[in-house]
Amino acid sequence: MKVCKFGGSSVKNSTQIKKIVDIVKRDEKRQVIVVSAPGRDEEYDEKITDHLLNLATEGSHFLEQKIEISTKNSFDAIMKKYEKLCDDLSIQKKKILDALKKDLTSCDLKDDKKQAFFLSRGEHYNAKIIADYMKKVGLNIKLMLPEDFGFILDNEYTDGKVQPQTYDNIKKHFTLKDDEKVIVPGFYGVTPKGEISVMSRGGSDLTGGELAYALDADMYENWTDTNGVYEVDPRVIPDAKVIPRLTFKELRLLSSKGFNVFHFNAMLNCKKSKIPIRVRNTNNPTNKGTLILSERVPMEKLVGVAKLDNMASIHIQKDMLGEEIGFTAELLKIFGEFHINTYHYPTDKDDLAILVEQEDLKGNINNLRREIDKRLKPDNIFVTYSLSVITLVGIGLKEDSFTIVDAIAALKENNIAFEMFDMSPSKISFHIGVAQNISDIALETLYDKLLAKENNCIC
Ligand code: ASP
Repeated sequence: MKVCKFGGSSVKNSTQIKKIVDIVKRDEKRQVIVVSAPGRDEEYDEKITDHLLNLATEGSHFLEQKIEISTKNSFDAIMKKYEKLCDDLSIQKKKILDALKKDLTSCDLKDDKKQAFFLSRGEHYNAKIIADYMKKVGLNIKLMLPEDFGFILDNEYTDGKVQPQTYDNIKKHFTLKDDEKVIVPGFYGVTPKGEISVMSRGGSDLTGGELAYALDADMYENWTDTNGVYEVDPRVIPDAKVIPRLTFKELRLLSSKGFNVFHFNAMLNCKKSKIPIRVRNTNNPTNKGTLILSERVPMEKLVGVAKLDNMASIHIQKDMLGEEIGFTAELLKIFGEFHINTYHYPTDKDDLAILVEQEDLKGNINNLRREIDKRLKPDNIFVTYSLSVITLVGIGLKEDSFTIVDAIAALKENNIAFEMFDMSPSKISFHIGVAQNISDIALETLYDKLLAKENNCIC
C-alpha cells in the first residue's frame, strides 16, 4: 500500500485535481490520499491557507508582508475558489459552501485557537470536494477526517505536534480492502480535548508521513510540482539534474542547507521504519522523481551541492583562549540566551569563530557583543557579514575524501578565495565558506568540476 500526499500546487484547481485522480487510478496500491489546501493558482495569487490566516488575524497576516489584501478580499477569494472548484468539477456545492461560510463567519474562538480553526478549513473543504469528485468518477473512496479518526496533536494550536495515540487511532480506523481508498485532509488534527489544532506550515507532508508510518506503507509518495530533488539549486544552475536516489541522511544535509523539498519532520518516522519516500511531479507523472531511502550503495562520490546565503561569522580572539576551560561552553550559552542558532565552529588555539544566520543578528548584535565582552573579555571580536556556505554532500565521500583536493583545486583554478573550510565528522559532507558576492560562481565551479560524471564516479 502506498500513501500519496498531493501538495497545494497539485490540488490548486480542477485541472490539477483531474491529474491527481488519473495518478491515483493508475496504481491500485495508491490507497491513502492526503491533500493540501489549494495553492497559488496564478502568479500573483496567494495560497488559500494565507487568505485564511489573513482572515483569522483581521488582515495583519498580509499587512506584515506589505501585501495589501483586506479581510473582505480574502473572504471573497476563499469563497470564490471553492465555488469554482465545485462548478468546474460538477459537484453539488450548496452544502459545502454554506458550511464553509458558516465556519468563517460565526466562529467565536480567539487568538491561536481561531487561527488554527481557520487554517484547517483549507484542507478540510478541499478534501471534501476532492472526495466527492473521486466518488463521482467511480473510485471507491472514503473521506476520513482527522477529528473523526483521532489525529491527535498537542495544545500548541498553530504548531501542533503529533501525539503517540494518533498511531493506534490510525491503525484502528484504516482497515482497507484491496479496492478501497481513503482521502484525508492534511495539516490539521485535534487536541486531546477535540479542539482543532494545526501543525507548522507545510504540515500536510507530516500527515502523510505519519499515516505511512502508522500503516507501515510500502512507500510514501510526495507529489509536488518539481521532478524531484535537484543536485544543485536549478535557479543558479538551470541544467541541474534530478538526483535519482539518495539517503535520508543525504537529503537532511542538503535540505538543512537551502534545499527545501518538503517538511523534514515528515521523514523522521519513515526513516525509522525504513519506508522509502518518492518525490514526484504531478505535472510529469511518468518521471520517476527522487527516491529517498535508508541505505544505498553509492556509485558516485557526491549526490548534491547546496548553498546557504546570508551567513555571518563572529570571530573571537583572545590570548591564551585555548587554555581557558569552559570558554566555548560559555560563548555558546550566550548565543543560546539570544535564541541564536549556531553553525560551524572553526577554531584555533586563540581564535574561535561561530557562523550564524545574519538575520538573527538584526537588532541583537550590539547587546550580543556587550555580553561577550562582559563575560569572556576577548581581545577582539570581528563580525563578517554576507558569507555563503557551500556544502558538498554524498555518502561516497567516505570512500574518497580526496575529493576535497579537487574542490579546492577547482576554486584555485578560477581564482575564487574561500573564507572557511569544515569537514563533517561523519565524512559525508564538507563545507566551504565564501563571500556571498562570488558564491554563485563558486557553486557553479564546484558543480562543474565535481558532479560531472567522470569526476564523480567511485571507480
Ligand atoms: N496548506 C498548508 C500550508 O500552506 C499546509 C500544506 O500545504 O502542507 O502551509
